[in-house]
Amino acid sequence: MTEPLSNHPSQEQLTDFALGLNGAGIAEHVAACEACARIVRDIRGVKQTLGALPDEDPPDSLRRKILERHRTAMPAGLNLFSFSGKGWLRTVILVIAGFLVIAFCLYYLIAFKL
Ligand SMILES: [Zn+2]
Repeated sequence: MTEPLSNHPSQEQLTDFALGLNGAGIAEHVAACEACARIVRDIRGVKQTLGALPDEDPPDSLRRKILERHRTAMPAGLNLFSFSGKGWLRTVILVIAGFLVIAFCLYYLIAFKL
């Protein structure tokens, strides 16, 4: 006999149980419920398959394409600390502006003895 769906653990709970992350209250249900036991077996099978795959570095051409896309997709403002192109100028301006703000604050504190 199949239990109503509301009595089964959620997919997240079953995944955590299958991966050994958190099995609180799940083991007993899985032992008695074929539907959930099948899901747990499938998740463990996927984990085992992924674990058996060899670690391989991506080809250099793919690495270059990803880095190039990342570089071109990044808004110019986020390249603040890049020293290629005009990024260095922005960095210098920001450092000078920060220094001026700090200097002004120190002058204000000293001059008015706050
Ligand atoms: Zn179940």
